[in-house]
Amino acid sequence: MNLASQIERYLPQQLLGLVRDISKEANQLGQKAYLVGGVVRDLLLGYPNFDLDLVIEGDAVKLAQRVAEIRQIKLITHPRFGTAKLNYGNFTLDMATARGETYAKPGALPMVTPGTLNDDLFRRDFSINAMAISLMPSNYGELVDPYQGRSDLEHHLIRILHLKSFSDDATRILRAIRYEQRLGFELEPQTSQLLKQDIPMLDTISGDRIRHELELIFRERHPEYALKRLGELGALQRINSSLKGNGWIAVKFDKAKSLSKPGQLPSLYLCLFIYSLQERENEQLIRRLNLPTKLARVLRDTLHLKSRLHLLDNSSIKHSEIYYLLREYDPLAMRANIVASESSTARFNLELFLSKLRYVKTSLNGDKLKRLGIPPGPELGGILQILHKAKLDGKVKTRAEEEKLALSLKP
Ligand code: ATP
Repeated sequence: MNLASQIERYLPQQLLGLVRDISKEANQLGQKAYLVGGVVRDLLLGYPNFDLDLVIEGDAVKLAQRVAEIRQIKLITHPRFGTAKLNYGNFTLDMATARGETYAKPGALPMVTPGTLNDDLFRRDFSINAMAISLMPSNYGELVDPYQGRSDLEHHLIRILHLKSFSDDATRILRAIRYEQRLGFELEPQTSQLLKQDIPMLDTISGDRIRHELELIFRERHPEYALKRLGELGALQRINSSLKGNGWIAVKFDKAKSLSKPGQLPSLYLCLFIYSLQERENEQLIRRLNLPTKLARVLRDTLHLKSRLHLLDNSSIKHSEIYYLLREYDPLAMRANIVASESSTARFNLELFLSKLRYVKTSLNGDKLKRLGIPPGPELGGILQILHKAKLDGKVKTRAEEEKLALSLKP
């Protein structure tokens, strides 16, 4: 099968030109270049995918340097790993020297050796991701499909390439379900049986790698589908016994989509994902996923605020009370509670803080108070806080009113 016309049709002109240059330069250097992975799968499905991955039989770093020089484009290389990244306009293109992998023990990082294209395809997760397209001038566009990926695409199947695939690398359990749900495919029967059998192997995977795969799920259009399925399979519970992918999540994720900026959505999903956990369970998850400090704080804030949400379910609460209740929390934790809360009053008060109250400032500051004759010290801090509360509650509006109030409080 030749996919040259699909490449021409689906890739933007800019990328097409770059791919052609790579093909030409590889040929001149006596190397062989192939498009691999997700882009091949998506070209066959007719889906747009502009994240190009190339495998080079030869020396990817040398080839990338040559192309970057000719095209005057930015390049990052990792000679030790035989990889290079070309940054081209809004696109990036990853190039890697073909390699094979062996696993010393389950979950370990693989030992990498130089290899052929077939070795490189064999180390991949599923047959639908283990296809390549030749970029050599002699057979430009030819599909390389040693593991029947195209047939599996046609039959809507997710299939691993060998029996030890999930035990070698149990992140593939999460990946299999992500693709299954994204594409509306099914697990091929033996793959399904091994996936279920190997769920305990998730214990061998580091927190960073599990977190990365969860983040990939959260970047899907419908992460709730994969989470539900992973919950049914018991894979979520293997990561943390209290995690669930139940119906509540589906409803709240939908709401999150309509309320959040796209860039924030994965973190917001994570907050909702842990919303039913106890603080102790949340701490276990933070440790298991080795969450960065900032994100761990957002999750802690989310649950802490949840425990105080009843205080906001009060339509006569003062603005200053809302402010001092919420000011220490991360805004994302507030957004998560807006999505999660069933109380329209609590949601209103949270929105009010985020859109207005957090920006309220007094006209007077410490220096200006000193100039009014208020001596420096703890009283001055106290007066500033009274002014701020008065401003929040609408009791003072102008600078003159603030000055009047400050002078009335002068010790
Ligand atoms: P998409 O999510 O659209 O598939 P992608 O194909 O670029 O994007 P990535 O997660 O970036 O997916 O992985 C790139 C390629 O690397 C995949 O197509 C897959 O073949 C391979 N890969 C990634 N992770 C693994 C893994 N754990 N085991 C084997 N192969 C993997």
